Amino acid sequence: MKYISTRGNAPAKNFTEILLGGLAPDGGLYLPEQYPQVTRAELDAWRKLSYADLAFAVLSKFITDIPANDLRAIINKTYTAAVYSNGRADSDFKQITPLRTLEPGVHILELSNGPTLAFKDMAMQLLGNLFEYALAKKHDELNILGATSGDTGSAAEYAMRGKHGIRVFMLSPHGKMSSFQRAQMYSLQDPNIYNIAINGMFDDAQDMVKAVSNDHAFKAKYKIGTVNSINWARVSAQIVYYFKGYFAATKSNDEQVAFSVPSGNFGNICAGHIARMMGLPIGQLILATNENDVLDEFFRTGVYRPRGTDHTYETSSPSMDISKASNFERFVFDLVGRDGAKLREFWSKVDTGGAFDIKGTAYWEALPKFDFASGKSTHQDRLMTIRELWEEYGVMVDPHTADGLKVGLEQRRPSLPLICLETALPAKFEETIVEALGRQPERPAALEGIEKLPQRFDKLPPDVAQLKAFIAARVPS
Ligand SMILES: *Cc1c(COP(=O)(O)O)cnc(C)c1O
Repeated sequence: MKYISTRGNAPAKNFTEILLGGLAPDGGLYLPEQYPQVTRAELDAWRKLSYADLAFAVLSKFITDIPANDLRAIINKTYTAAVYSNGRADSDFKQITPLRTLEPGVHILELSNGPTLAFKDMAMQLLGNLFEYALAKKHDELNILGATSGDTGSAAEYAMRGKHGIRVFMLSPHGKMSSFQRAQMYSLQDPNIYNIAINGMFDDAQDMVKAVSNDHAFKAKYKIGTVNSINWARVSAQIVYYFKGYFAATKSNDEQVAFSVPSGNFGNICAGHIARMMGLPIGQLILATNENDVLDEFFRTGVYRPRGTDHTYETSSPSMDISKASNFERFVFDLVGRDGAKLREFWSKVDTGGAFDIKGTAYWEALPKFDFASGKSTHQDRLMTIRELWEEYGVMVDPHTADGLKVGLEQRRPSLPLICLETALPAKFEETIVEALGRQPERPAALEGIEKLPQRFDKLPPDVAQLKAFIAARVPS
């Protein structure tokens, strides 16, 4: 399997060649040259598989340059009940992603039972094991530099902790995260994890990371890399649970389902699009946004108009607060018939702060064939959905999952069973749960009292030179 760039001007590469990098050299994102197809016989056989066996079956179609035995060992180590047993007390951890049925035809796929209680663990844990394997093969090292306001940074740290050849330098805004989030990250004592609290806002931390990444000499000398959501390996790992969820919600492969997906950077739902392109019988893919509705606007009007960070709202589903959707380019590449020149034309506008409009073109005519629906959910919608779920089913959902349920129930075709992807547990978002229900969220037993553990972090001012010196002092060059 070879990977090509959405912008059509970069050489094709193998999986392991794109694993540790980010963007393609022409500024595009990598995608498989063709989507591997799943036969009816395969679907029938896969229905009975455990999560790890299913992950191996799906991922072997995308990863053809790691020996099968090695890939199997990496996957077996990643998808075990021991790793995914931090979630709700009444979950069946052996399933890795258990399906919770609210009523016939309405389900939640639990993706948040990993160590940081968010779905990002599903892909990030695999990434950690793939990185360690690939670096050992090359006798190389990687220093991951990132900025976080919560979810991504903690998922990366829990995936990379204790891994040989990897260090993590994670910047976070000092005093701006919840005490739970802070405890989750800062209580890690692994010597390869460096939490750096920046005296400033998240944007200051983000700017420092960008400044270091733009210093190409420093980046090369200190082997700096990232784990952001455009990484292809993360998208590929997310394809697996669409299969798992489909099998759990249906009795035969003649049935179709709808998935609803709380969306920000379009990574999670992009994996659903690819699962469907492979032949998984997904009817609708329903995209849910919060008040930051750039993607909903595209599917309703044909206009893609990223907002710029000063027009991004801070909401109570903060992991969906995006100004532009970094993985969206992958879907548009398929929509325009994989025409790299067309993609370059669209993104020459996006990359300079503009918009593009497909209304009135053949692409707008082609869009219904991909069968997406979309909608937006506001703070009030979120509170109401959390309340309704609690009162009707005794199920507590987090604000992001509430956005997905609200839009999914509104947009699905009634003939299709609905599977809503759960993207985090309520324990991560106490404030909104208390506002909705007047009570604290349940917290998994393993994380009781986490705020009392000793914390380990360094403080730095928002100063790029000091950040570089901090890294240089800890990385042998
Ligand atoms: C990252 C995240 C999302 C958004 O997922 P994308 O892949 O960026 O669309 C939604 N909910 C939660 C809780 C997240 O952490």
